[in-house]
Amino acid sequence: MNENGSKVIETINLKKEFSVKVKNKGKIRETRVLKAIDGINLHVYEGETLGLVGESGCGKTTTAKVLLGLYPPSSGKIMLEGDDISHLNRSQMKSFRKQAQMVFQDPYESLNPRFKIKHTLMEPLEIHGIGKNKKERYEMAKKILGEAGLRPAEQFMERFPHEMSGGQRQRVAIARALVLEPTFLIADEPVSMLDVSIRAGILKLLRSMIAERKLAGIVISHDISLIRYISDRTAVMYLGKIVEQANTEALIKKRYHPYSEALLEAAPNPDPEVKFSLEKIKGEAPNAVDIPSGCRFHPRCPKCMEICKEVEPKEIEIEEGHMVMCHLYGGAGNE
Ligand code: SF4
Repeated sequence: MNENGSKVIETINLKKEFSVKVKNKGKIRETRVLKAIDGINLHVYEGETLGLVGESGCGKTTTAKVLLGLYPPSSGKIMLEGDDISHLNRSQMKSFRKQAQMVFQDPYESLNPRFKIKHTLMEPLEIHGIGKNKKERYEMAKKILGEAGLRPAEQFMERFPHEMSGGQRQRVAIARALVLEPTFLIADEPVSMLDVSIRAGILKLLRSMIAERKLAGIVISHDISLIRYISDRTAVMYLGKIVEQANTEALIKKRYHPYSEALLEAAPNPDPEVKFSLEKIKGEAPNAVDIPSGCRFHPRCPKCMEICKEVEPKEIEIEEGHMVMCHLYGGAGNE
């Protein structure tokens, strides 16, 4: 982690809403607003990995898609190295795509089954006009494949995805994301489809690639034990809001938000091979079209007070760099 380095990516009060049709009394369909991201402030320094954790449906993947330019934000800003990239035109988007890459959950789905690995890795170089000729692109692709742990790389270059294991395919997906030398990488549940025995190796590879190349990395997971293992800082997301954000070890030692507490209680072991369970958290997260009044966590919160049902808490800095959004620590009322 490089806390003294520069911020690579930053969001300022970022929101993403969708119009959705919902059934009313089982019959009439009405249009409602789904607030997938509801005003988030995040930043990632160069060489740093930020873990974004929360239950399914909390807005993590929508956040990734908005940051990668796959969805336009409804409001707020996304800054990349100080430049506002919230709304890019087509040619700006092409150059942004080179800088921002993603590793997906399913390595088999994300690789073209008809392409040999060398084509998968050389194609993005060709699209972006990198490398003087085919031979140079081949060498660049081979180098990154070796760095991703697939050696001898010249042999893996000739394989098809179906000739590789799940872990090897995810290493190819990481190599493909890095071959363009991006500044910013998002990995969405990068090991959830893999056998537990190989998860730690893939996470170590991701962490070292992000640190050594001084990228800004965001790793998304529902599993806080995995986030604890890989990330320098952690942001806890609940129903479209970041409810707590801090240095990972500081958050493990002292978590302030009752939701972070519940997540940590459910996953006390930092070993990513130990299965994570949310059973200790009562009830299910409400739908993002029916966000509760006041603090959105109040229907599930064991420490809920009267004020929590009416007034949305503000984000406050409770310790240096440690942000929390909860009435237990003051700061009533959100603008
Ligand atoms: Fe619980 Fe109230 Fe804090 Fe929300 S604001 S997390 S309901 S104590």
